[in-house]
Amino acid sequence: MRQFPSQALAAFGLGEGTNPRLLAQAYKDYAAKLSNAGFPDEEDLDKFAPPEDTLNPVQMIRGDIPNATPWGSTPHMTAIHRAEFLKILVDRVAACSNCTAHFSKKLVSYEDPSVGPVQLSFSDGSFAACDILIGADGVKSTVRATMYNRLAEAADTEEEATKLRDHVNPVWAGQVVYRYLIPREDPVEAADPSHRCLTIPVEYQGKGVGLGAYTVSGGRWIDVGAVIAKHNLFGSTFSGRWSVTVDREEVTEYFSGWEKESRVLVELMKSPTRWAVNVVPNLPTYVGGRVALLGDAAHAMAPYQAVGVGQAVEDAFILATVLSQVQSNSRCADALTVYDEIRRPFSQSIQRLALKTGIALFMDKKGEVPLGPTFEYGELEDSAEGFGKLFEWSATTSLLPDRDRALKNYHMLL
Ligand SMILES: Cc1cc2nc3c(=O)[nH]c(=O)nc-3n(C[C@H](O)[C@H](O)[C@H](O)COP(=O)(O)OP(=O)(O)OC[C@H]3O[C@@H](n4cnc5c(N)ncnc54)[C@H](O)[C@@H]3O)c2cc1C
Repeated sequence: MRQFPSQALAAFGLGEGTNPRLLAQAYKDYAAKLSNAGFPDEEDLDKFAPPEDTLNPVQMIRGDIPNATPWGSTPHMTAIHRAEFLKILVDRVAACSNCTAHFSKKLVSYEDPSVGPVQLSFSDGSFAACDILIGADGVKSTVRATMYNRLAEAADTEEEATKLRDHVNPVWAGQVVYRYLIPREDPVEAADPSHRCLTIPVEYQGKGVGLGAYTVSGGRWIDVGAVIAKHNLFGSTFSGRWSVTVDREEVTEYFSGWEKESRVLVELMKSPTRWAVNVVPNLPTYVGGRVALLGDAAHAMAPYQAVGVGQAVEDAFILATVLSQVQSNSRCADALTVYDEIRRPFSQSIQRLALKTGIALFMDKKGEVPLGPTFEYGELEDSAEGFGKLFEWSATTSLLPDRDRALKNYHMLL
């Protein structure tokens, strides 16, 4: 974990969309409990989570033709400024009386011996020991790499070992996202005072190209993300740096001939950051011995459901729930087994849904096309039918039955 000065955090921060399932359940209903565990409390949340009656659906607009034509919407979303959210978490963890946070530590590997605690090695030459290790170290996870190399070493056959090693590194989703924060008032209002993104979240779409814009940080910034998707490259390795600042022209060329609102936004992306979207699909387990993976380390996904953060928080919520039941070290493994049992199927189903949403959003509405070298673009159809359904789960399902199932399964293992 690394703590940057808050100025630096603000400069690096971008928005993260989140959804009703998370806000309504993991946060609001459990604010007090989560707050004790270092999560934001309701007062913190009110700074960035607007009341539900002010949440807006995302307006879908066909963008690759001259006159912007709205054709549908997704369920409402709330956008959180990533840097602000991170700062709240860091402040909370630092202030937590019953835990110690060490910042600026980089894990290089771990050992999980049959006797004694898990041993951690850090890049500064220091070591630490722990009863269990939770690897929430993102898409490039060192914990996942170590875990899957160890699992491969222990495999019965070379074929099995090769399959396990395939999970050490993430794969490129064939997509890049250009992101930039535009100050709300000056340029956008000056260029187009009635620009839709000033009042509602919007998505402009074309075949393999899209642009999303929504306000964050109490409306002070407009978070703009332009996606270029080449699904035939899904599963390959991205050559080059994953995150790099590029010239505006690299983005604007994709939007020539598009309707006016999207061109206004891309023209204002003065120095966008290009992110290669890498994913961690289909891990056969999130757990190895006394070590568990959480968040992007376990299931980094395409961003089209805007739930990478939400799924990481759901992992943490279920894991914290089962770990709170553990009375002795001998039962840690049971808790991790239950976590894997409950969270892996659900998070991986959302991961598949996120890919399907991307295909439906930018290519064709069926979203069933197999990815990889044989992928071909379908025809873009301006039909809202079926598209909204891809988001229904976030408003109609609950995390709480999974919590109850986790508790039941853990106690049944006694
Ligand atoms: C372009 C784009 C747009 C996105 N939009 C959204 C969105 O709108 N909504 C949404 O919910 N999600 C979105 N996501 C996904 C979201 O950002 C991730 O799912 C989320 O950040 C995952 O959280 P995490 O804590 O698992 O990993 P991370 O946020 O990557 O955090 C990992 C942490 O581990 C630290 N770390 C890494 N390696 C080590 C090591 N060896 N030792 C110690 N520490 C280490 C890192 O410094 C970092 O602090 C988007 C992603 C992309 C790429």
